[in-house]
Amino acid sequence: MPTGEYQRRRDKILAREHKNRDEGRLPYWNDRARSINWKAAKRYNVTEEVTGAQLMDLYQSTSACLYCGEDLLPKTTHFDHMTPLSKSGANTLDNLCVACGECNFIKNDMTAEQYIRYVEDTGEPEKAYDWVLIHRQELQIKIQEAQTKGVRENEFDVSDFF
Ligand SMILES: [Zn+2]
Repeated sequence: MPTGEYQRRRDKILAREHKNRDEGRLPYWNDRARSINWKAAKRYNVTEEVTGAQLMDLYQSTSACLYCGEDLLPKTTHFDHMTPLSKSGANTLDNLCVACGECNFIKNDMTAEQYIRYVEDTGEPEKAYDWVLIHRQELQIKIQEAQTKGVRENEFDVSDFF
């Protein structure tokens, strides 16, 4: 094997080990925060930022998907903006919850409220259905809180024109 190739493989393995060791620690969550903030700024022009420490706290306080209860590892954890950034949701802790990949994917740009209703109406995804039935009230409280605190202020609202 040429030396360059060997070096490259070795670096890759070391990088992976480093990542595994740090998973769930602050540098890991800092990276996650950076990527969330970058997307918020780039796609939605939102300049509010979450910190790695906030994400770490959120994950440590509940590692279960808000919508289906699935218990998640740091690397399978998605952070969902309960009110999507596209709908004036804030890029702040108040508007974030832990979600599994499947719920996050299906929810897409629905609000948390709409997604819960979607689960109730369609029974999909199956794993969320029973969870939502049982936890409806707690979910409602958390969602309402997010709708009050986790919304961007002074947002230019196109609906004013219609
Ligand atoms: Zn889920």
